[in-house]
Amino acid sequence: MGLDGELGNMVSKTVDAKDVAIIGGGPAGLFAAEIIANAGHRVSIYERMPSPARKFLLAGRGGLNLTHSEPLERFLTRYGEAANEVRTAVEAFPPERLIAWANELDAQTFVGTSGRVFPKAMKASPLLRAWLRRLNDLGVSMNTRHHWIGFADTSALIFETPEGERTVKPDAALFALGGGSWAKLGSDGTWTDVFKNAGVAITPLEPANCGVLVEWSEVFKSRFEGSALKRIALSIASSKVRGEAVVTAAGLEGGAIYALGPQIRATLAQGKSATLIMDLKPDLTRSALAERLSRRRAGETLTNFLRKAAHLDPVAVALLREEGTELPDSVDALAGRIKALPLQVVGVTGIERAISTAGGIAWSAIDRRHMLRCRPGVFVAGEMLDWEAPTGGYLLQATFATAASAANGLLEWLAARQ
Ligand SMILES: Cc1cc2nc3c(=O)[nH]c(=O)nc-3n(C[C@H](O)[C@H](O)[C@H](O)COP(=O)(O)OP(=O)(O)OC[C@H]3O[C@@H](n4cnc5c(N)ncnc54)[C@H](O)[C@@H]3O)c2cc1C
Repeated sequence: MGLDGELGNMVSKTVDAKDVAIIGGGPAGLFAAEIIANAGHRVSIYERMPSPARKFLLAGRGGLNLTHSEPLERFLTRYGEAANEVRTAVEAFPPERLIAWANELDAQTFVGTSGRVFPKAMKASPLLRAWLRRLNDLGVSMNTRHHWIGFADTSALIFETPEGERTVKPDAALFALGGGSWAKLGSDGTWTDVFKNAGVAITPLEPANCGVLVEWSEVFKSRFEGSALKRIALSIASSKVRGEAVVTAAGLEGGAIYALGPQIRATLAQGKSATLIMDLKPDLTRSALAERLSRRRAGETLTNFLRKAAHLDPVAVALLREEGTELPDSVDALAGRIKALPLQVVGVTGIERAISTAGGIAWSAIDRRHMLRCRPGVFVAGEMLDWEAPTGGYLLQATFATAASAANGLLEWLAARQ
């Protein structure tokens, strides 16, 4: 059952329509608008850009990974420290609800080999077009080029618009301003100062799902930038992940790196660098690998031999030499280096190109309805809340789920005041 049914039912008997402002026209804002409009209220979206959901459209460029098909308990672990807070929202609006919603908008989904869920069209644009049509049919008004700059008093909102400053005074407001990455698409994180000044606790925004900086030699960089390190395992402290990474001029990018982001940032915060341990052959034990490495024929170059015996790509062989030291002679020591290659990470890439943002409005600042404790009638949702997750569909799932929580919280609050 879709929103018209189940979510809307909670409140579908609304008699006294109220004015609700949604600030931010990304997926969280649009989804909250849909739920609240379905309940019969007058909804106005205020979006600073000339069109809504620009980051959502960008997300669709590489294949819109809506959610993930793994069991919910495993799914929830992806939110790390915020798992408990995100749990309530995702349990109430789990992946199957998001998939059903997408299907209703004619964006039938499929599960990829990794368990990730995508719309068949892969892109976000057909889904967004159908969604905006649905919002329009529900009477939601879309006010673009409306940049929210602050609160006039407890409930009035001030916007900068091409026609000058505009103040609106809704009965309730829901903010979904996103994080701070890809500022040119609209969510630039400048809202943090306004909220801080209004007495809301904020965890500083940091880049998440971003690359790490490694000081490659010029030779390695020039030969291997863009090369993929496939089927590797990476570890730091007690965390270990399997996946892929891609060599960039600045260091490394990719799923395995993103998944260790919180641990890498935490280690970097304590000192100048963090040591990542890369296992280039995670499917072989050290002794099995040493056994293969012991079969080298006389005269065979080590590089060729490593490619053949251990199936190491040229980039992996070159990486073994990046430390500047010669490769060890003993097969056991060589197997040891292939299984546990240390890489010094000296930083993370900037927030400008990060896929998502860690930090945001502290959970202690909101109640179970996602309402700001210090501002009754003001609700928050989406990436502007303090949670993070790796790529894999977890970002959009939490975005939609927290939007549903905040929207239903707002409806509950309005209903209690009637
Ligand atoms: C390259 C890339 C690929 C991605 N791929 C995926 C993926 O495949 N799967 C996945 O789960 N996630 C993906 N994400 C992450 C996902 O897009 C975000 O987590 C999601 O868009 C967050 O939604 P949101 O509505 O909370 O915030 P946003 O999408 O950032 O929307 C916030 C909106 O608020 C507006 N706004 C900001 N400040 C103001 C203001 N002061 N006044 C008025 N309006 C304002 C912004 O213009 C924006 O439209 C990707 C992100 C990137 C950058």
